[in-house]
Amino acid sequence: MSAPAFLPFTRPHIDEATIAEVGRVLASGWITSGPKVQAFEAALSALFGGRPVRSFANGTATMEVALRLAGIGPGDEVITTPITWVATANVIVAVGATPVLVDVDPRTRNLDLDAVEAAITPRTRALMPVYLSGLPVDMDRLYAIAARHGLRVIEDAAQAIDSRWQGRRIGAFGDLVSFSFQANKNITCAEGGCLVMNTPEEAVRAERLRLQGVVRRGDDGMDVESPGGKFNLTDIHAAIGLGQLPQLEAVTRRRSALAQAYFEAADRHGLAELGIELPLPSNTSGALTNWHLYQVVLPAERLAGGRAAVMQRLREAGIGSGVHYPALHLFSYYRGLGWREGMLPQAERIGRAILTLPLFPQMDDADPERVCRHLADACRSLLR
Ligand SMILES: *Cc1c(COP(=O)(O)O)cnc(C)c1O
Repeated sequence: MSAPAFLPFTRPHIDEATIAEVGRVLASGWITSGPKVQAFEAALSALFGGRPVRSFANGTATMEVALRLAGIGPGDEVITTPITWVATANVIVAVGATPVLVDVDPRTRNLDLDAVEAAITPRTRALMPVYLSGLPVDMDRLYAIAARHGLRVIEDAAQAIDSRWQGRRIGAFGDLVSFSFQANKNITCAEGGCLVMNTPEEAVRAERLRLQGVVRRGDDGMDVESPGGKFNLTDIHAAIGLGQLPQLEAVTRRRSALAQAYFEAADRHGLAELGIELPLPSNTSGALTNWHLYQVVLPAERLAGGRAAVMQRLREAGIGSGVHYPALHLFSYYRGLGWREGMLPQAERIGRAILTLPLFPQMDDADPERVCRHLADACRSLLR
């Protein structure tokens, strides 16, 4: 019997019709932003209840444009989480503002909203929540805090397409909501992103920020009032996104079924008894995740070799796993801003011990069982 193929923690799936459509774009003579981008933005706007949507080259550019749209810059503080892809904090730095990192709730691994309230100062201008693994925060409380203090909310919903709060889709309500279509996300363009906004006027300003600040008018056909960047999505990428979007609900359904299989297999193999923390079950207090990631937190300090040793054992069994994410305040640059070990204890513990298990629609029904069996074996043999 041959060994099963290596199981990665995720793998994009682009269907044949989409591959053919990308070929047609390449042959069409129009390969940068054009009709495919417009169609993609229209489809996204329909998904988000008709709100204005513009696309960008990637999720990072999308968040930077959102911060600039909100007028955030030097002297301003933006509160966010240390357990995120470092892009979230990097864009705050990129616009000249100060990232204020607060600790996470160990159950949701998202921003602790008590800590958010405690971190608000007269310089705070915006809150930047992240929905790790696709799980929204308590959106009612988040927006109540923002309203009480007159703050903008820039949602890093990069992982949360088709997640819901009290039955409403993330992006269909709220302030500025940013998504990513990077290769690992539930819906991909290979690289891409989009921003959901409040008004057509914001959408016009977003268009300028994504293309050099150019305004079409006057004798020369253009003017620039304030410079912008080069952040546009191409029709090649938009064609991929257009092929993916109709599969969104099936993708979420399949991911939920696989997550359910993980919970059942985790139970059979006694993961909780081994000290492994599972994710919250879906629809806990109104937050419905899209199961972008299935993440456990290991009892890392009791394991010989810690998380790295578990990942190595899994790899030897043909199973990939990932780290999303180390606590970003301990990266050298952020230490240079004054952040230290001990300041955000929950984030530090989770950052050292969180592990992403394989979850993507094309994996086999039996994979969660195999992953949990090998994970239990690895932890049992490494526990000290
Ligand atoms: C993917 C991701 C981003 C950045 O998106 P890119 O498209 O890679 O620039 C930002 N934040 C989070 C939480 C992400 O998962």
